Amino acid sequence: MSRQEYTCDECGSVIYFEGICYECRQRLKREAYQALTEVEVEAKARAIIAALGALGDKFYTTNDQYEDFFGLLAYKGISTAAIAEAAAEAEVYYPYEIYRDAAPEVRGKLIALVMQPDCGEADHILQCLAIAGGDDVLAAFIRLERNPLPWSENLFVPPSVYARAGGWTFDSEGRRVELNFGRCYPVFPLANGAGTDKAVTVATPRADVCPQCGTGLMDIVTLDGRDERLAFLNLAGVIKIPVCPQCATMCERTLVRYSPGGDSTMELIDPFGDETAMPESEYAEMTSRKFALAERPENLFFARGNDESIITVGGFADWIQDFQYDACPDCGKPMRYFASVPWNALSDWTEGTLFLEICPDCRVISAFHQQT
Ligand SMILES: [Zn+2]
Ligand SMILES: [Zn+2]
Ligand SMILES: [Zn+2]
Repeated sequence: MSRQEYTCDECGSVIYFEGICYECRQRLKREAYQALTEVEVEAKARAIIAALGALGDKFYTTNDQYEDFFGLLAYKGISTAAIAEAAAEAEVYYPYEIYRDAAPEVRGKLIALVMQPDCGEADHILQCLAIAGGDDVLAAFIRLERNPLPWSENLFVPPSVYARAGGWTFDSEGRRVELNFGRCYPVFPLANGAGTDKAVTVATPRADVCPQCGTGLMDIVTLDGRDERLAFLNLAGVIKIPVCPQCATMCERTLVRYSPGGDSTMELIDPFGDETAMPESEYAEMTSRKFALAERPENLFFARGNDESIITVGGFADWIQDFQYDACPDCGKPMRYFASVPWNALSDWTEGTLFLEICPDCRVISAFHQQT
């Protein structure tokens, strides 16, 4: 039985419903946010603040203002200071991204709450403080880590792990450690064939095969660290990241050991079962699409725009489950998040996202999958 075929009104690609394909719908949504004038952004911010006041902790149920908040954060890079102030006033602590640019007084208010022995919302408030960051937050987290309050018995992890929600943590001496990179570049699909920009290439076929299932491996991303746009990653050369497209979603993680000369090996950690090899037609489709690194950096929260057709390098991940920073298998330190590859960018049949983290000291990369 074959499904009825249509073509996307925007790009002409084949889809199985009438209208506009997912990629075009997301792109139009993004472009609409990017085109907003300052006055329009202000108006949307006021509507978000009004919804926070009217709905309190049910704010997340407002489709329009909730979506607008992430649209403005991802595509306009707005300061969330005024929104954070209103949220604190209304005692709203979710989504925690609201507190990204919280002023010192607002952070102080949250710190005072979490310093109460019986704080009932420590779980959410710690994440709000983590995303706000700041020396005051670091000092409070260190204090709470060393002298846990009674509420900590209800939480599964200590403040140093909550800090990771904000892309940082601290070591046993209380020194702040960055777990994200302070720059973000999208990797956009190219409409027509291959471009000449090879700073980032995606899903490049390899000659070696997966030891578990026999599918050909692919370099899920190849990064040319010599390109000045990628200088923030501090890679010495070309880094290849081989994964099995079949098993990468069916194991705890793929560990990649790399050298800046482009040699890499991969190892599947705790595969869930015995996969069979991926059909050649699927492999061919996954490796057929072409992409290019954006010319200019975007906002650090670009991935939070929730567009599953866009690969991103750097910035903040759009976690599907809880935030996750793997420990380096060699030195034990938390690895640093540096890229996301939503499978949807490569094929129409795989859900979820592959997250990539790195320990540059040990030249190890962890690639792990999350889905709803
Ligand atoms: Zn389209
Ligand atoms: Zn495999
Ligand atoms: Zn390491």
